[in-house]
Amino acid sequence: MKLEGKVAIITGAGSGLGRESSRLFAAEGAKVAVVDIDAERAAQTVELVEKDGGTALAVTADVSVEEQVQAAVTTTVERFGKLDIMWANAGIVSRGGVPSVLGGEQIEFQDVTDADWQQVLGVNLSGVFYSAKAAVPALRANGGGTILATSSAASLVAYHGIAMYSATKAGVNGLVRGLSLDLGRYGIRVNALCPTHGMSPNFLMPPGSPVVGQSYEEVAGPWDPSISPIPLKLRRPPSLLDNARVALFLVSDDSQYISGQCLPATDGGTLSRVAMWF
Ligand code: NAD
Repeated sequence: MKLEGKVAIITGAGSGLGRESSRLFAAEGAKVAVVDIDAERAAQTVELVEKDGGTALAVTADVSVEEQVQAAVTTTVERFGKLDIMWANAGIVSRGGVPSVLGGEQIEFQDVTDADWQQVLGVNLSGVFYSAKAAVPALRANGGGTILATSSAASLVAYHGIAMYSATKAGVNGLVRGLSLDLGRYGIRVNALCPTHGMSPNFLMPPGSPVVGQSYEEVAGPWDPSISPIPLKLRRPPSLLDNARVALFLVSDDSQYISGQCLPATDGGTLSRVAMWF
C-alpha cells in the first residue's frame, strides 16, 4: 500500500495510462479523482476502480481551460479533504506531417492549421501548466506533495510525423525542471514520465474511435520487430501497467529524493535511434 491515505488527481484518466494508473493507485490505497474531458469515460474508470474495492471520483474537465482545472482541484479537495498528488497526464497526439500508422488523416506539414497547433499546445503544454498551477495551493496547504506530468520519449528523440507533439512534450520537460527548483522548498517534487510508443491505441486513433479498453495488438496487429526492434527479452511494446508502475514510483515516497527529472520508461532501443514507426 504505497499510497495509503493519499489523494491523487489524474487527468486524462478516462482511458489508457490514466485509467490503468487510477486502478493501480487505488489498489495502493489512494483516493483518486479521475479527471477527463469525456464524462462517460471518467465514469467508466470510476466504476472499474470501485469494482476492485477502491475509492474514486469522476470529474469532467478540459485541461486546456484554466478555470475547469481549478474547479477540478476544488471539487477533489471538497470531496476528499486534501491533495497529495497531481498527475497531469492528459495528452493528445498532433495531426499533420506524415500519415499515421493507424490510418489517421494524412496532412502535409504546410497544411497544418493554427487551430491544430493551438489545440495540441493547449492540451499538452498549457494543460500541464494549468494543472500544476491549480494544484500548488492545495499541495502547499498539505505540507507538500508531488506533481507528475506525462511527457513522452518523443520529447527526447525524433519521431516521424509528430513534430508538434514532440515540441509540446519538450516544453513539458522544461516546465518540470524549472518548477522542481521553484517548488522544492514547499516539499513539492515535480517529475515527468516519458513513455515510449505503442502504449494505448486510443491515443493514436482519430478522435471518437471506439477503441478505449482494447489492446494495441487488437487495433494495430502484432508488433513488427523489423520496424522497431526491442532489445529487452520481453520483446513486446510497453504495457499500460508497465508505465503505471513507473508512475507509481514517481509519485510515492520511494522516489522522495528524485525531482526535476524526465524519466524515460523505455526498452533501451527507443532512445538510441530515430523512430521509423509512424
Ligand atoms: P488515451 O487517448 O488512451 O487517453 C487520454 C485521455 O485523455 C482520454 O480519455 C481523453 O478523453 C483525455 N483527454 C484528451 N484531451 C483532454 C483534455 N483536453 N482534457 C481532459 N482530458 C482529455 O492516451 P494515453 O496513451 O493513455 O496517453 C496518456 C498520456 O501518455 C498522454 O499525455 C500521451 O501524450 C502520453 N503518451 C502516450 C503514448 C502512447 O503510445 N499512447 C506514448 C508516449 C506518451
